[in-house]
Amino acid sequence: MDRKTYLDKIITEFENWWVNDQHSSNMDFYKNTITFSYLTSLSDNDFMNFFYTFVSEGGRVQSGGDRKKNQFRATVLNDIENFRQYVVKPFQEKFSLKDWFLQVDKYTGFGVGIATIFLNRVDYEKYPIMNNKTLKALKKLGYKISSSKNWTNYELVKKYQDNLITDFPILKNYYKADALNHFLVDVYLGQELILDYLQIETFENGLEQNEIEQKIEADSENLDKQDLYDKILDCQNDNSEKVLIKGKIYKRYNYLMVQIKKYRDYKCQFCPTRIKKANGNYYIEACHIKAKSEGGQDSLDNILILCPNCHKLFDYGYREREKHTKDKYSVFLNGKKYETGLK
Ligand SMILES: [Zn+2]
Repeated sequence: MDRKTYLDKIITEFENWWVNDQHSSNMDFYKNTITFSYLTSLSDNDFMNFFYTFVSEGGRVQSGGDRKKNQFRATVLNDIENFRQYVVKPFQEKFSLKDWFLQVDKYTGFGVGIATIFLNRVDYEKYPIMNNKTLKALKKLGYKISSSKNWTNYELVKKYQDNLITDFPILKNYYKADALNHFLVDVYLGQELILDYLQIETFENGLEQNEIEQKIEADSENLDKQDLYDKILDCQNDNSEKVLIKGKIYKRYNYLMVQIKKYRDYKCQFCPTRIKKANGNYYIEACHIKAKSEGGQDSLDNILILCPNCHKLFDYGYREREKHTKDKYSVFLNGKKYETGLK
């Protein structure tokens, strides 16, 4: 199954979930309240209460608003008129999204997440939502978002959501497109579907790693452990995406994984399994401890070399009590403890 076909499947499952979930019934929840006339007609007190509820409920999109509501009340309480002018700006003709966005920091408790939910509630055909969930989900789908600047990321999120809506018109608008992000990150079925989707990439990477392995096998026979270790550090500090190996271009990531597999002697770090292939090489898999979509690095201290069984157990099993340092990693998978060194 290729990626496009698989994405079709994800969207179909999402649609089944969507029709029965609160997300769909909440799509127009603020239709009559987040409007210019309503927000300007409220007394200061009612206005404050309206936004206090909006923040504490996360605009009926995100959780965690409960922690921010008091902070929010404190920042806005002395400045109600300015805040009111700020939130009605998106309804006015000369509205500059960028200027508005860059002022979000002024109101502590009304951060980028809730502010973009508000914009989305103003017009879900125009403004996407951007919170941690959005970024996580889009990264899982393979989109690159790495800026430390919120505005840059927001422009990227808009572009990627546009791509998705164009490819899958059933997503309709930025509100529904964001519900897909929620589905992929917070709903078990979605989490499992995206894991399967990522397997396609893992499989493609595995093929390339085999090819690299065969190419470099002969060269590195006399490297000792320390040489290999130094080589890995050099490779993981290299910023280039690609490497050239004997006339062919490969992903640097795959080259690095081959080195790490070799460094770990092609042995599973959780159990004694070592799978010898007919050609005398060994089969083994590489996986990230902290996923890339959560900021995990391609580095020796974030990569586990695992046999296929342990790899699937790690990906699909119930994971708890993780301890991860530069040198060591331990975890309980389906109730059983696994640990390994990472040096
Ligand atoms: Zn194993």
